Amino acid sequence: MTTQQQGGEMPRTVFDKHECEALLIHCIDFRFWKALHNFVETTLGIHDYDLLSLAGGAKNFANPTEPFLFETTELNAVISKRLHHIKKIILTNHIDCGAYGGSSKFKNREEEVEFHKAELERAGKVAGEKFPHLEVIKILVSRREDDVDCLVLK
Ligand SMILES: [Zn+2]
Repeated sequence: MTTQQQGGEMPRTVFDKHECEALLIHCIDFRFWKALHNFVETTLGIHDYDLLSLAGGAKNFANPTEPFLFETTELNAVISKRLHHIKKIILTNHIDCGAYGGSSKFKNREEEVEFHKAELERAGKVAGEKFPHLEVIKILVSRREDDVDCLVLK
């Protein structure tokens, strides 16, 4: 679907656009975000998105270490919505996230995955309450062997 600008002119380049589809929130961890971007663009088909990269990703909505981290996340979502009229907010967590103490904090991968699913659920609920008109997409970035594996939660 293309975006109509006011007045009906089609944007020539990305610089002519003033809207984007989503805000993507992810952790700073270099091991995961490139594969996540690739997944969002090629699998979800979302090419234009604002980006908030903050240690812990969705943790900053679900279970913020400090109140200012929640406020920063919320403020950036407000600005993204106001300036770029986003329709979706994409919340992500990843396996072995240092902001949660890493994989060693869990008995096994299964326990860690279930924990992050619950965290994303909680973050999604918070985002849904704060931004009721936005579609919330939750993604757990995990590992399969030596590859990154992105799982969209229902
Ligand atoms: Zn992390």
